Amino acid sequence: MTRTAHDKGGAAVHLTELTKRYGNAPAAVDAVNLEIAAGEFMTLLGPSGSGKTTTLSMIAGFTRATSGRIEVGGHDVAGLPPYKRDLGVVFQHYALFPHMTAAQNIAFPLKQRKVGKAEIAARVADALDLVHLGGMGDRLPRQLSGGQQQRVALARAVVFNPRVLLMDEPLGALDKKLREQLQGEIARMHRDLGITFVFVTHDQEEALALSDRIAVFNEGRIEQVGTAADLYERPETLFVARFLGESNVLTGTMTDPSTLEGHGFRVAVPRTGASGGPSGPASRTASVVIRPERLTVLPADARIPAGHNALRGTVSGLTYLGAHSTVTVELDCGERATVREPAAARSEISAGAPVQLTRPIAHGVLVSG
Ligand code: ADP
Repeated sequence: MTRTAHDKGGAAVHLTELTKRYGNAPAAVDAVNLEIAAGEFMTLLGPSGSGKTTTLSMIAGFTRATSGRIEVGGHDVAGLPPYKRDLGVVFQHYALFPHMTAAQNIAFPLKQRKVGKAEIAARVADALDLVHLGGMGDRLPRQLSGGQQQRVALARAVVFNPRVLLMDEPLGALDKKLREQLQGEIARMHRDLGITFVFVTHDQEEALALSDRIAVFNEGRIEQVGTAADLYERPETLFVARFLGESNVLTGTMTDPSTLEGHGFRVAVPRTGASGGPSGPASRTASVVIRPERLTVLPADARIPAGHNALRGTVSGLTYLGAHSTVTVELDCGERATVREPAAARSEISAGAPVQLTRPIAHGVLVSG
């Protein structure tokens, strides 16, 4: 039995100025532009209410766009009903039919498409194998665990060989261990099927673990699109820096293209634009973002290496976490900084000790606002 999905491959999905308004409220999705490549694993990541589900639902055809364009495989799909868009969907509200067995649930999209009986049987068996549920086809959903039910939903979504799979928080209801296991399965399905995956989550770790690229949503708009490393190492906005991973942020005014001055501090920053940060006139407000593992704690009297910034402060907390320690420092300028250090005990770092925090100037990332 061959799986024809392999032959078709994935389709590109292009969103152009896609907008959804409900009444007079601020747009739920506000002029979103996004180019998802054929075969890519793209994750829409953002806090609750940022417009992820509405965007996915417009691609699926469950929600009508107010304006803008959606292309799948180069074709405008605006006029097509969901089942003609060549998309598989795993949405939370799109549950399994409770009175049908796993096999009948998986067969449903094939029956809708008038596939012949013998072929349905073969494809359902194939799909059950794909999600490691071979032999469980006769069970009703209530006879399956939550994780197994999600596997059936995944099998049902891909059984008709769609070129794109849309998933809205498919692992949201599962406990952590099961979630991690199914993440691995989804990654494997992406490799095996070779189709385009568009995945919605509010969980940054899940996004970092699975995606080729991530689009970070905030208030109906995309703040930044990039690989996990792009977003972590080169956030373009304060929102992205704070949403992905921990960060220390100093906000001040640019007094020249390489100096940020704020309340009680003055630091050299990578020259504007060179780090991929915002460019613009001096004397604008900007922030420098420094990840905890990029900072080093030195005794108060240590010499600062060339090419480094130093900020003075006092250790207020030290937490040993096995692989590393977290040091909290109250800076003289009034901000609190977090540093991640290799776990080896260092006698000069103890609560109440005056210290300096240093970092290579090049390792700060400058962002707007
Ligand atoms: P997310 O998936 O990021 O949590 P949603 O796309 O569900 O966000 O919602 C984006 C915004 O649109 C929210 O402010 C939400 O309240 C609003 N919204 C979503 N669906 C509807 C609806 N059917 N009617 C009115 N407002 C809605």
